[in-house]
Amino acid sequence: MLIIGPPGSGKGTQAARISERLGVPAISTGDIFRDNVRRETPLGIEAKKFMDAGDFVPDTVTNSMVRDRLAEDDVREGFLLDGYPRTASQVLELDDILRENSLELDVVLQLTADDEELVRRLRGRAELDGRSDDTEQVIRHRLGLYHDQTVVVVSRYDERGIVVRVDGIGPIDEITERIMDALKVSS
Ligand code: AMP
Repeated sequence: MLIIGPPGSGKGTQAARISERLGVPAISTGDIFRDNVRRETPLGIEAKKFMDAGDFVPDTVTNSMVRDRLAEDDVREGFLLDGYPRTASQVLELDDILRENSLELDVVLQLTADDEELVRRLRGRAELDGRSDDTEQVIRHRLGLYHDQTVVVVSRYDERGIVVRVDGIGPIDEITERIMDALKVSS
């Protein structure tokens, strides 16, 4: 499955919980990038300048990273992809990667929240863990990219009838229960 939501929607937190409940690995492109940035790998050094500006890391880098990850054995029985695809062209790329590995998507979970709530949460997160891409200007830029490029990703999967929407506003535990209920209905 995929989890899609604007920055600050809590998709990382919920992805970790769902992955534990379902017993499948959570794969977050943002986390893989951040890990590479921390370890100062060539991939991390390349990605950092885009991430700090709130821009998307170029497809050449991102697609091959996802391609490698989805070729690993632990995804055979299921996986939860968080943060990819983020553009219409990444949707096509993912179709390709899945086909090559004889994998299929069952469900695309969209977490929803309005922009002002997201900016408020992200400002809080910036104070707590000092992510370098959580300044107000960069936050607004990342939200803009979500609306301009990622909303269309959800439309693509809507056309395939596999999108489940869950309201991402509320206590964390309650949202997890909403998600688990929504997944039961869709399965
Ligand atoms: P996230 O933790 O999902 O918000 O991702 C943090 C940052 O990593 C994003 O703002 C992008 O710079 C980069 N990133 C993560 N996933 C992708 C992707 N699918 N395509 C391009 N850049 C990405």
